[in-house]
Amino acid sequence: MASSTISIATMSRESISIVCSDFTYSRSRTCQQKRKATVLGLLIVGCALLGLVVGSFLNVVIYRVPRHESIVAPRSKCPNCQAPILERDNIPVVSWLLLHAKCRNCQAPISARYPMVELMTGALFAGAAARMGWNWELPAFLTMLASLLALSCIDAELMVLPLKIVYTTVVMMSGWFLLAAGIDHEWRKFLIAVIGASAWFALFFLLNFASPRYLGFGDVRLALVLGFGLGWLGWRYELLGFFLANLLGAIVGVTLIATKRMRRDQPIPYGVFLALGAGIAIFAGPELLIPFQSLR
Ligand SMILES: [Zn+2]
Repeated sequence: MASSTISIATMSRESISIVCSDFTYSRSRTCQQKRKATVLGLLIVGCALLGLVVGSFLNVVIYRVPRHESIVAPRSKCPNCQAPILERDNIPVVSWLLLHAKCRNCQAPISARYPMVELMTGALFAGAAARMGWNWELPAFLTMLASLLALSCIDAELMVLPLKIVYTTVVMMSGWFLLAAGIDHEWRKFLIAVIGASAWFALFFLLNFASPRYLGFGDVRLALVLGFGLGWLGWRYELLGFFLANLLGAIVGVTLIATKRMRRDQPIPYGVFLALGAGIAIFAGPELLIPFQSLR
């Protein structure tokens, strides 16, 4: 009787210690999760703010690069009265709201495109941070998304994709991807990205050769950026991006022709759809590709 009492006492002490260690473990795990969530939250807010500032710079790029003007000097000015934009009137989105979308000097309306580009860049950056978390490939994708947004705006307005922007993006992305590959030992991803960029470039080069009227050389260059970025994520993303771009292009093109808002022989800004396809593949790829997970 006495020995069984002792063994029960020992057992209960053991179980108490197990419960205690479980409790400590789960508490430290909760603390860790909380810390992770806080870090991710800070990263998202930081990226959103960075996006707003980058968006303000993209507005300069979108206006000046296709017009072969410098993006450094002179300072931005009102296109109506030529008055220089003051520093305090250059705060992304906020200044546009405070000025009631009008020039401080001549009261000429300021296009909503400026705050829209800033907001969209902020949203894209925050979304990318939420999707990917912090890693060394994140800056490469922020660069890619910012560039695709600027190129889409220019292509939609002027039907050109300036090579300066495309090549600068490829160089910047190469730098970030090399850094990511070196630090995180992701050379396989880097290799697939390079193969992806080459494959897209070759395919688009042939398409341009076969029909330069419908696919300009700007799209061939842009294919480098898309193949590079999507290739880093995997070959399935390459196919998804390409498929989505053509699907969206076809839907919009057919709708515009059917509603007589576009002639059949009129080219569409294909770069916009390529950028859209790539963007959707980056953000929604993991979910859209679930049915194809078994494919290797
Ligand atoms: Zn003005």
